[in-house]
Amino acid sequence: MRIRELNVVRKKKYNVSIALLFPSTYQASLSSLALQILYFYLNQHEELFAERIVSDINDGIRSIETGKSLAKFDYVLVLSSYELDYPVAINMMQKAGISPMRENRDKPIVIWGGSSPTANPLALHRFADAVLRGEAEAFLDSLIEHMLSATEKKQFLNSLSSVDEAWIPGIKEEGIIGRVSNLDDAFFPLRQIQSLDIEPFLGRAFILEPSRGCARGCRFCMESAVLGARRERSLGKLISYIDEGVEVNNVSKVAFYTLSFFDSPTGERLLEYLVEKNLEGSVPSVRADSLDEHKVELIKRIGQRVITIAPETPSDKLQALINKMISWDTVMDVAKWCRKNNLFIKLYYMYGLPNEDEEDLELIVSQVRAVRDIMGSRESVRVSIVPFTPKPMTLLWREKMLSLKELRKRERFLKERLRVYARIESYPPKLSRMQYEINMLGKEAWKYILGLADISIDGISKAREVISKGGLEEIG
Ligand code: SF4
Repeated sequence: MRIRELNVVRKKKYNVSIALLFPSTYQASLSSLALQILYFYLNQHEELFAERIVSDINDGIRSIETGKSLAKFDYVLVLSSYELDYPVAINMMQKAGISPMRENRDKPIVIWGGSSPTANPLALHRFADAVLRGEAEAFLDSLIEHMLSATEKKQFLNSLSSVDEAWIPGIKEEGIIGRVSNLDDAFFPLRQIQSLDIEPFLGRAFILEPSRGCARGCRFCMESAVLGARRERSLGKLISYIDEGVEVNNVSKVAFYTLSFFDSPTGERLLEYLVEKNLEGSVPSVRADSLDEHKVELIKRIGQRVITIAPETPSDKLQALINKMISWDTVMDVAKWCRKNNLFIKLYYMYGLPNEDEEDLELIVSQVRAVRDIMGSRESVRVSIVPFTPKPMTLLWREKMLSLKELRKRERFLKERLRVYARIESYPPKLSRMQYEINMLGKEAWKYILGLADISIDGISKAREVISKGGLEEIG
């Protein structure tokens, strides 16, 4: 399938070829800022040519740019934001005739990165030649230097071991998490891949990252644990990026990628700027307690039709456990502002938390019913329920996850009770348990992951799309 794209890079002369393997669909890849950063940073270098490979174009084994087979690249960089990307990536390698097992492979050299390998590289012990932990901008220059001087795999891995963020099985099984200290100085791709044929989930937009990290300290949140302290780009820089970004991408919309968008005044200023420039925008899931009526109005004025918040649980006991206290009144206020502005509301709840009882689940139902009463109709309330999944690096990592049977029982209870008051989306407990197993199994996870690579990759890809859209979704 030939895809027409804006800003795509093509090269005739280069010394080192890199496949950026994105273990999901082409449409999902369009919303990946990490992919855009890697693609444009690596391709700035004239000796390198980085091409993209996704699961549903060219059969998942050939690049989008030139149709080159995955097996023919010098290096494969696998981008994985969560654990179920692993079986999909492995399935793609198998289709391309590459052994997923590192000891059976000399070429290409396969390096993994992203949130979940950063949090727990052990799961990739038998697959990855190396895992690079943390934010790519922190180690890309060193990586490029080692790629350019490498003669063969062993020598490359030995030299890569001097990189602080590199975790190399059998050579150096430790590695710090790389973080950019000053985002204003970090590379940002103003030109981004824009598909002329396929619309991304958020619509055609210039992706902008105003900040990274989150200081709120919710005990279940792997994203904030991996990203660490909050860092922000300056308003002046962001505004100059918007001016240039919409121009070179030929779009009239800005999609903001950030945790806790309104945790600094910059969020509000950016929305005001979009309104002033008559641009559309897309704001991710926001902390309910950082919203006010003016911000909700701004979100409406940039053309977004849904406000997404994640109360997680209305139970005081469970809120104290997860360290995320979103009061009942706060949720009701957000609902009132949504109703007033004729917006949908989307609420994320977590179930299966430690010590959760029926009363806690009933509270979710009562809260959704109260929101429905304010919103006036079931159709304007969307609820997403997600099983609690202990994640590495978080403070709740050592908590037990409920069995699949028990999770399904609670999921059924919530779905049956909630569907009267809202439209429900449920993240499959089976997929949540798989993520948990992958992390729990440590170095032994490889057998389990290989087993998953043989089954329903389509189902996993679809579930990833739900996650990709989660909190960023607009309801069309
Ligand atoms: S759940 Fe949200 S508010 Fe809490 S730490 Fe994570 S990103 Fe921050």
